[in-house]
Amino acid sequence: MNQPSLFPMFAKIASKHCLVVGAGTVALQKIQALLQCGAIVHVTAPQANASVRQLADSGEISLALRTYEDGDLRDKFLVILATNDSDLHRRICHRCNERNILVNTVDEPALCDFYFGSTIQRGALQIAISTSGQSPSSAKVIRQSIEKLLAEEAGDVLDKLGVLRRSILSLNFPKDLQHEMLHQLAGNILAREPKQKARVKKEAEPGMVYLVGAGPGDPSLLTERALLLLGSADVVLYDGLIPDETLHRAGKQAILIPVPKRCGDKAITQEQIHALMIALARQNFSIVRLKSGDPLVFGRAGEEMDALRQADIPFVLVPGITSAAAAATAARVSLSDRRYASQIVFATGHRANDGSTVPTYDKQATIAFYMAGKRLQEIARSCIESGYPSDMPCTIVENAAREQQRVVYSPLAQLEQLAPLNGPSILLIGWGMAQHSPE
Ligand code: SAH
Repeated sequence: MNQPSLFPMFAKIASKHCLVVGAGTVALQKIQALLQCGAIVHVTAPQANASVRQLADSGEISLALRTYEDGDLRDKFLVILATNDSDLHRRICHRCNERNILVNTVDEPALCDFYFGSTIQRGALQIAISTSGQSPSSAKVIRQSIEKLLAEEAGDVLDKLGVLRRSILSLNFPKDLQHEMLHQLAGNILAREPKQKARVKKEAEPGMVYLVGAGPGDPSLLTERALLLLGSADVVLYDGLIPDETLHRAGKQAILIPVPKRCGDKAITQEQIHALMIALARQNFSIVRLKSGDPLVFGRAGEEMDALRQADIPFVLVPGITSAAAAATAARVSLSDRRYASQIVFATGHRANDGSTVPTYDKQATIAFYMAGKRLQEIARSCIESGYPSDMPCTIVENAAREQQRVVYSPLAQLEQLAPLNGPSILLIGWGMAQHSPE
């Protein structure tokens, strides 16, 4: 049978009387560790090094410059032995055991009731590693590996996560959505790769919401302003279409919260996004609300601005490159080539208030249909029914300025034969589209 395992515990020693026997370098480390946790530290040693004496002079510890006496153990919670005298250690250890006082003897595992784990401390986060004395060096290696995994500011991040957690719990969201959000938040304690240096120039201000356009996907298409805000905001609430490479531009201090239409397998409603944004702004966080493309183009920014106005939360808008522009770039075609078009229409193909599904045909117009990928057939049919010529040239761009960018050209009548596209897609219809020349 193996040795019984050690009982892992984090002990509260604030205001407890603790004794350190010895006052050399090793003893000093232990004294400092005890002080850090608020213990009342007594030191007994015939001689003390300068730093220990200094602590005594400044009143941080009480120091008895003499050899140990059994009376030193009176009312002690724990004792640390750090002299060079093994016999003395054995004798004190024995006395401690008689009196049920916890004792640790430096470098003598047989004379220990407890060990000091190899520890990582970042603010409220503490991790202690023990190999039960089998390989303290392994504990150190493990500690170094864990340190690399953690965000450098893990302590600050943890404090923010605490506030965010309480804010989310205070909102009247369904329990499973709350759990999913907390689960998504938790990962922020880990370091992000590549590590973005917090920007020196602080842009995002506390209590302020920034509705920021992230462009079509390629992070090099972010505006300088968007980068500054991402680099300095406390919280980034981001939509489903934002790629990881863009999120990597957020500063290390930022807490990233996904708020896609679907969060894990839980739906998050627009109203819940409003409530979250408002609650966090009221906690005085600076918030970037990151949306694909431009926030004011099919981005529900109208509703979000209304909610913020009603809650008296100040907000700032930052435009981004809308996906119709990125799609035209991918197809290398002008949306307003004056030989073919004098209008550009941004449309969704969803039924408008007056019941029409597509804009009225105008041969001088280029129509950019957003949210088109899964509705190509439907849109083509509506266009033809409402009088668009069936041979009108169309360009469909899936994943513009993202990985797996795809450009497909088709006359309107043949759109119906295309399989639905799963990536975000823009459908461009107009006589100028015949000029497309994708690379
Ligand atoms: N505010 C965004 C639009 C959001 S609506 C903007 O200005 O672009 C979501 C729709 O945007 C998607 O269904 C798709 O039609 C389009 N979209 C977003 N990113 C895209 C991309 N990289 N390539 C093609 N279309 C994209």
